[in-house]
Amino acid sequence: MTYDDNNIFAKILRGEIPCKKIYEDNFVLSFHDINPQKKIHALVIPKGKYIDLDDFSEKASSDEIVGLIKGINIVAKKLKISVDTGKGYRALANINEHGGQEVPHLHFHLFGGEKIGKMVE
Ligand code: 5GP
Repeated sequence: MTYDDNNIFAKILRGEIPCKKIYEDNFVLSFHDINPQKKIHALVIPKGKYIDLDDFSEKASSDEIVGLIKGINIVAKKLKISVDTGKGYRALANINEHGGQEVPHLHFHLFGGEKIGKMVE
C-alpha cells in the first residue's frame, strides 16, 4: 500500500483544509476531531507521510517516533487531561481494515474530559 497524498489529513497538513489546531511542532500536528465522540476528542498526527502505526514503526526515524509520543503528552497537558493536569484519557490508533481506520494517515485519537467507558464495544 502506498501513501495517498490526497487523504484528508494530508490536505490539513498542507493547509488546504482548515482545522481547529491545538498544537504543532516539527514532528506533529494536533487538532480537534470534526465529529467528536467524547467531550474532548483530539487527533495527533505525525507530519511525515505514514499510513498507519505499522508503517510508522517500520519507516519513521527515532526522532519522529519520540516526537509523536512526546507530542501526545504535550497535547494531553494542553487539554488538561494528562495525569498531572487532569484525570487521564484514552489514546487510540485504528489500524487498517479490522482496526476500522478511515483516514489513511497515522493518527492517535485522544478521548477525555469524561469517563471513556468500555475499551471495546
Ligand atoms: P479513523 O476512523 O481513521 O481512526 O478516524 C478518522 C477520524 O478523522 C474520525 O474520528 C473523523 O471524525 C475525523 N475526521 C475526518 N475528516 C476530518 C476533517 O476533515 N477534519 C477533522 N478535524 N477530523 C476529521
